[in-house]
Amino acid sequence: MSSLQIEILPVLNDNYMYLLRDPATGVVGVVDPPVAGPVLERLAELDWRGKQGEIDWILSTHHHPDHTAGNLELKERTGCQVAGPAAERERIPGIDVALSEGDLFSLGERAARIFDTPGHTAGHISYWFDDSQALFCADTLFALGCGRLFEGSAEQMWLSLQKLLALPNETLVYCGHEYTLSNARFATSIDPDNSALAARAAEVEKRRQAGEPTVPSRLGEEKATNPFLRPFDEGIRSRLGMQEADDAEVFGEIRRRKDEA
Ligand code: ZN
Ligand code: FE
Repeated sequence: MSSLQIEILPVLNDNYMYLLRDPATGVVGVVDPPVAGPVLERLAELDWRGKQGEIDWILSTHHHPDHTAGNLELKERTGCQVAGPAAERERIPGIDVALSEGDLFSLGERAARIFDTPGHTAGHISYWFDDSQALFCADTLFALGCGRLFEGSAEQMWLSLQKLLALPNETLVYCGHEYTLSNARFATSIDPDNSALAARAAEVEKRRQAGEPTVPSRLGEEKATNPFLRPFDEGIRSRLGMQEADDAEVFGEIRRRKDEA
């Protein structure tokens, strides 16, 4: 049983899309393409070819154009199918297969479990390929951050993040944007005594100076350093003066401060 092959593809200012290939069957997918051309160019470079066309599947996480604007052109040019969130089916261009909590999505012989992870948008989903230890969570969980609450409440987003927190520490977190440097600076301001965070922030600075992606990260390091996953932390709570608040309220306050940072 071999794992998915995964290629990270930076696009636009700071978006990431991901090319996936199941080595057992040759089935190819792309997560959240805002454009078509660079996907096809990279596939040609990699010499990856799907079963029915250049790609077989688009995996959409949520309806924002910086994640879906390439769907129709890719569908037209390759004959691929589009999978996406059932709750946003009206807004996902070209959607063929609508997915929601508990569904399994198969890419060849590799299966992803679907989580409903609303908060950034009302119907946002995440794809967890457990045997490849890969989580595609787009704008729900970022390296050292989380998505803005455009269509959901803090309570909703905190529930979504808790679903992801329950996954194994080794899980590789493939998020939707390279926001890690600004996230690291904010995280440090909220959690200045966290030595694991300080070390990670220094590493992030180095990587970005070298022009390298900071993605994927391991879920275990997110748990240790990402303040949005740590609203129960005593140090963060006392810094915010919220010792008595519940976790969702602390989370909401961290999110509010980041919005204003
Ligand atoms: Zn988005
Ligand atoms: Fe986005």
